[in-house]
Amino acid sequence: MSDKKLIYLDHASTTPGLPEVVLAVEPYWSMVAANPSSLHRCGQNAIAALDDARARIQKFVGADMPREIIFTGSATEANNLAIRGVVLKSGVSRAHVLAIATEHASVLEPLKALERAGAAEIEYVAVYEEGCVLPDDIARRVRETTALVSVGYANNEIGTVQHVAEIARAVRGKNSKTLIHTDAVQAALFLDMNVHDLGVDLMTFSAHKIYGPKGIGALYIKNGTNLEPVIYGGGQEYGLRAGTENVPLAAGFAKAAELAALRKNGENGNALKELRDFAFAEIRHIVPDAKLNGHPLKRLPNHLNVFIPSVDSEMFLVALSEEGICVSSGSACAARSQTLSHVIAAIGRGDWKGCHLRITFGIQTTRDDITALVRAIKKHLSRL
Ligand code: PLP
Repeated sequence: MSDKKLIYLDHASTTPGLPEVVLAVEPYWSMVAANPSSLHRCGQNAIAALDDARARIQKFVGADMPREIIFTGSATEANNLAIRGVVLKSGVSRAHVLAIATEHASVLEPLKALERAGAAEIEYVAVYEEGCVLPDDIARRVRETTALVSVGYANNEIGTVQHVAEIARAVRGKNSKTLIHTDAVQAALFLDMNVHDLGVDLMTFSAHKIYGPKGIGALYIKNGTNLEPVIYGGGQEYGLRAGTENVPLAAGFAKAAELAALRKNGENGNALKELRDFAFAEIRHIVPDAKLNGHPLKRLPNHLNVFIPSVDSEMFLVALSEEGICVSSGSACAARSQTLSHVIAAIGRGDWKGCHLRITFGIQTTRDDITALVRAIKKHLSRL
């Protein structure tokens, strides 16, 4: 193992927990360690802590009441709960669902499973070359029987941002009964997360993408929306997600959300955008035919996915890693599978030969980190 300094540029995969988050979690491992379902005073302290975390997360997304927030073990689980929950409760034998082709695996796989089981008919709406979908392209396909439209807010591989509010308006214009879900995992640090502004019924988000702890996600469920649970048991989380609640992680999630909300109002997004654009300009300087994947403007401020022609993706990533540069070539989940990214295929670049490098910056990233990244790219391009 090399002793080179590690430069972490993979914040779309996960973000490091902030010291404030670690401090917020700590007391709940030991001092308030009871089960929130226990009726004794220690249990009451635990449920009070959980309620407090839920109320703070409620505020983060502008929900009307705490019970609209359901804690889950991950964003993957929240997406499963949203999708399976709606379809299995829809009351029709084969619910119609619309989704876009570039969704995360935790949306696509439950959809495929429902289709295999004969419970749903899934229609995937295509995106354009920059990864955007047109609201009308979705609305046009909405039927009388469409139970759900699921559209990711910001794409994890190329950073393209969808206009969720416009999509929701267009869908409701066609069918006011169709439920709208957005996977807002990648958007939560930078974009408006207010569920009323977005006009959604269901919204997934996660702590570890906002400098909070791993192992906890959440689903916003608009009051009055009926879902079938995915996990049955002791009735926790309003009967939707059984299992003893994780109070320490909920406390850490709430702290991370508050810090994210504060940073959103500050200069963080602009600073990251400057770093991102600096990185792209420097890469283009040494690889003039490098191409941006994703939308040039409607894109997360910390997200750069760049196509570098004629290099082997895996060898390039390993070479960069040996230089201490931690970047990825797609989503963390797909990275080990060696299959072509469905997102890159969906934007029509599936047959481009080379490396699609995903570089995602965070609050600890500096200009020196970018200089080191570019130096490493230059060194290995001449070798590979
Ligand atoms: N949705 C999106 C857009 C993501 O980027 C991810 C993780 O990369 C997930 C869902 C799943 O998150 P988790 O692995 O925390 O369940």
